[in-house]
Amino acid sequence: MLSDETNECIIIDPGMDSAEEEEQMTDYISEHHLKPVLLVNTHTHIDHILGNSFIASHYKLKLAAHKDSAQFIQRAKGQAQMFGMEMDSTKSIDIFLSEEETLDFGHSSLQILLTPGHADGSLCFYSKKDDFVITGDVLFNQSIGRTDLPTGDYDLLQKSIWEKLFTLPDETTAYPGHGPETEIGFEKIHNPFVAIGKELD
Ligand SMILES: [Zn+2]
Ligand SMILES: [Zn+2]
Repeated sequence: MLSDETNECIIIDPGMDSAEEEEQMTDYISEHHLKPVLLVNTHTHIDHILGNSFIASHYKLKLAAHKDSAQFIQRAKGQAQMFGMEMDSTKSIDIFLSEEETLDFGHSSLQILLTPGHADGSLCFYSKKDDFVITGDVLFNQSIGRTDLPTGDYDLLQKSIWEKLFTLPDETTAYPGHGPETEIGFEKIHNPFVAIGKELD
C-alpha cells in the first residue's frame, strides 16, 4: 500500500486470504484515515491477487494492471484449488497500464516499468521523487523471480533487471513482493542470481 500527504492511497498486490488479514488491512486504512483510490497488480500470480475481489468490492476500486496479466486471472481459480486455497471470485482488470503512462494518486506519480521474465505483463513502479521502486516478483533482496512458471523466461528476466531496474540510481530503495527491502546499488554487487559475475570474472 502506498499513500502520500493527501492520504490518498493505492493498494498493490493484496495477498490476504483470510477474514483476519482483511480486517488488518481495513483497520490500518481507517486508523490512518487513508482513502484508497486504486487497486494495482504488479502481475497476477495467485499470491498477489487473492485479496483483489475483497478490496475492489469493499472500497469500490478499479483494478489496474498490464493487459498481458489478464491471462493469469482467467486461470487463477483452478490454480488456487491446486494449491489448496479458496478463491470465491476473481476480479478482472478494469484499467490497462503501459509504460507510456504513469501511475498517479494524490500528489504522487510513479513511472511504470514493463519487466517481463517472471511473468508476462510484470510491472515495476518507480518513484523518482521518493527514490524507491516496487519490484514485485522481478527482483528480490539477493534473489530474482522464478522463471519456471508459464510465460517465465530467464533471459528476458535478466534483460528486464539490467535495462529497467539497474539503470535506476544506486540509492533507489527496492520493495519486492516477498522478503525484505533492498537497494539497487547493493543488488548490482551482491545479488548472486544476476549475471554481473560475467563482468567480475
Ligand atoms: Zn509471481
Ligand atoms: Zn509472488
